[in-house]
Amino acid sequence: TSSTTIKGVSVLGATGSIGTSTLDVIARHPDRYRVHALTAHRSREALYRQCLTHRPDVAVLGTPTDADWLATQLKEAGLATEVRHGEAALAEVASAPEAEVVMAAIVGAAGLLPTLAAVRAGKRVLLANKEALVMSGALFMKAVEQNGAALLPIDSEHNAIFQCLPGQHRGGLGRHGVTQLLLTASGGPFRGFDAERLARVTPDEACAHPNWSMGRKISVDSATLMNKGLELIEACWLFDARPEQIQVVVHPQSVIHSMAAYSDGSVLAQLGNPDMRTPIAYGLAWPERIEAGVEALDLFQVARLDFEPADEAAFPCLRLAREAMDEGGLQPAVLNAANEVAVEAFLDGRLGFTEIPRLVEAVRAGAPGGGADDLEAVLAADHDARARARAWLEAL
Ligand code: NAD
Ligand code: MG
Repeated sequence: TSSTTIKGVSVLGATGSIGTSTLDVIARHPDRYRVHALTAHRSREALYRQCLTHRPDVAVLGTPTDADWLATQLKEAGLATEVRHGEAALAEVASAPEAEVVMAAIVGAAGLLPTLAAVRAGKRVLLANKEALVMSGALFMKAVEQNGAALLPIDSEHNAIFQCLPGQHRGGLGRHGVTQLLLTASGGPFRGFDAERLARVTPDEACAHPNWSMGRKISVDSATLMNKGLELIEACWLFDARPEQIQVVVHPQSVIHSMAAYSDGSVLAQLGNPDMRTPIAYGLAWPERIEAGVEALDLFQVARLDFEPADEAAFPCLRLAREAMDEGGLQPAVLNAANEVAVEAFLDGRLGFTEIPRLVEAVRAGAPGGGADDLEAVLAADHDARARARAWLEAL
């Protein structure tokens, strides 16, 4: 069986929240997986410690200075790990023959090119980096088809939906009797807040998520509900769905990770404790199942499951994302770029929380139209939207 051969894994964004959880699962199964490459942007100490534990063939950092530092440290520690730096190195470890599996866990648009490199090399791609798919959905999915890549969604909602759909779900939801996808949302740390209270929230409050522990960018996205908006776009591409076939359901306990509704009235849900090691283990082993280190779900302790609609008046980002997907073309790429700039400014204390959607809406309004069929157009739209977002910030 497949479990008798050890698979090489490249972990892009190894030092992050998803990367760390991925290495935790991999370490539980030395009979199945070995680490080919680990990458990080600036966290050289964290990457050094991971190299000591997981002994990768290659390690990649953002700058030559950090790469030199790491190479010296690893040599002193007696490791043969090759250390490289920069974007070309990321694409190389994502497409190397030694890696059958690639975990795409870089945050933001920076993950697009290395993730696409893995897709083009026909890898099993564990997709955590939702921004890559949001930016380039059409060409990304085309590249998956053309290169025979296996795309496994790691975002917990999409992983749940994947588990609730029939094995061959491509070709439109209707063909398989699916009437709706129910995308659950925790509502974030500010659920129930009105605009006045939201205007005063701080970055640290935004990053203290009630159910999930995540990187700072996605934590802010969860607080604005932009994360749910990006996930709506992500679901459209992954499952061949139209935005109106997806309903967002706020479910504060984060125990149901999403659902699929069928024409006979059945609704299938995937449940579990909110721990990303479950979808990561699923993606690694699919179609098999492996132990993930996650505690069994205790329904008596959960006691109840609540559901409510999302408050799109207080949290306009969800609407902005839906509109961007409805318009199509380059609009999702523009939305994503403007949001990345806005979130960074909020985290730096240069922008108020309720100004995040204002900035995104302003950048969207001035965006050029056009199709997103080629990578150059997507990268140009991303670049242009960032420039206009920075100009908007300067004019504040
Ligand atoms: P994080 O901030 O904890 O980690 C990001 C990783 O990417 C780090 O290893 C960092 O060194 C690397 N990185 C950052 N900027 C880079 C750049 N410019 N070039 C190369 N590498 C860079 O983020 P995270 O929470 O682990 O999220 C990673 C991705 O997974 C995001 O796209 C996020 O939306 C998605 N995701 C995360 C979770 C979660 O629970 N954390 C859940 C679902 C989806
Ligand atoms: Mg999610």
